[in-house]
Amino acid sequence: MQTNLAPFIRDTAEGKEAEAILRKCTHCGMCTATCPTYQLLNDELDGPRGRIYLIKQVLEGSAPGPGTQLHLDRCLTCRSCETTCPTGVRYGRLLEIGRPIVEKQVGRTPAESARRKLLRTVIPSRRIFNPLLALAQLALPLLPQELQRKVPPPAAAGRPWPAARHARKVLLLESCAQANVSPATNAAAARVLDHVGIALVRVPKAGCCGAVSLHLSAQEEALGYMRRNIDAWWPRIEAGAEAIVSTASGCGVTVKDYGHLLARDPAYADKAKRISALAKDISEVIVPVQDKLKSLISHHPSRVTEQRVAFHSPCSLQHGMQLKGAVEALLASLGYALLPVTDAHLCCGSAGTYSVLQPELSKRLLANKIAALESGKPAAILTANIGCQMHLQSATNLPVRHWIEALDDALTR
Ligand code: SF4
Ligand code: SF4
Repeated sequence: MQTNLAPFIRDTAEGKEAEAILRKCTHCGMCTATCPTYQLLNDELDGPRGRIYLIKQVLEGSAPGPGTQLHLDRCLTCRSCETTCPTGVRYGRLLEIGRPIVEKQVGRTPAESARRKLLRTVIPSRRIFNPLLALAQLALPLLPQELQRKVPPPAAAGRPWPAARHARKVLLLESCAQANVSPATNAAAARVLDHVGIALVRVPKAGCCGAVSLHLSAQEEALGYMRRNIDAWWPRIEAGAEAIVSTASGCGVTVKDYGHLLARDPAYADKAKRISALAKDISEVIVPVQDKLKSLISHHPSRVTEQRVAFHSPCSLQHGMQLKGAVEALLASLGYALLPVTDAHLCCGSAGTYSVLQPELSKRLLANKIAALESGKPAAILTANIGCQMHLQSATNLPVRHWIEALDDALTR
């Protein structure tokens, strides 16, 4: 695609990056076929090709209006388009560059700005999130029915964490939402890794990965979270930790991008690059040791094979990290009966804060996803990201949980 970027961005690092991405796009339109918002709205400007064109216009100097902002806001950042694109257009990165520029030029109403600020403040802060969650759980009968389904029940006291007794150590990226809502997930990951001789180590000084701020166009705030995490992890990495592991793919995919996002920060660029290289989804740690797990599980085959499960692959896992099919293959090899799910490449509508900011589109995607997941009559739905897990659970009576918890049950129940 020919480009002629405007002077305000042309010679900046971001301008050069955006230009390189735009030039890769041949405008073929193949990506529109796999874009969830295009499928729902049937509008070229609510598909990746149209959004690329809108961002190009802004970078070339056209003044964006509220219409442009709305089309960009409606994007889920699911990156399904990246998986489809034959020329490797990094749409997600282009959107990260384009959205804040549009945000700055178009602005938001005070109410909308306050709502976004509230999300950026509450979600990453346990100090604020936990009391609010407890309050919502107490007031549950007084809440509207639709909201009741969105409030997760109080977390049950789970089985204990194993002591960090192995020489092989990996660091845990504790997703803010997951640590608050589903603490059993990381404990399950620690026990499964303990079975194969790897200690999962918590790093209390680390915190939010920065994804919420990044997706809400607060880039400097996001970079601040990233620098804080690097400072917290670095001494342990120097001491020999092998990886930084996440059981929430929405957070893991962001850490994998630290190297890129901090590339222009002389104090952090090298460290961030190393952090990205060490960032792993939990499945990437489990797959290499699956034979060992298989032999452990073979002592209790009935714990596994009785379960008919449907797996929802989060967009951050299959498109963001390009780990499509990895968890499904792992579970199948361990004896789970995985049911087919139609349109498994499509987003469930959770997408970080999307379900709050674009509730109508989110609900439609959720209804489609639940129908696809329930069609084979599974006993449970498994997934790999807390946002998807909570979103799906709000619309089904089937249990929805992280696949590592099912594996932990099979090993230690
Ligand atoms: S992003 Fe890729 S698939 Fe979409 S129009 Fe451009 S080249 Fe084609
Ligand atoms: S990221 Fe997802 S919603 Fe956004 S344009 Fe790409 S496919 Fe469509």
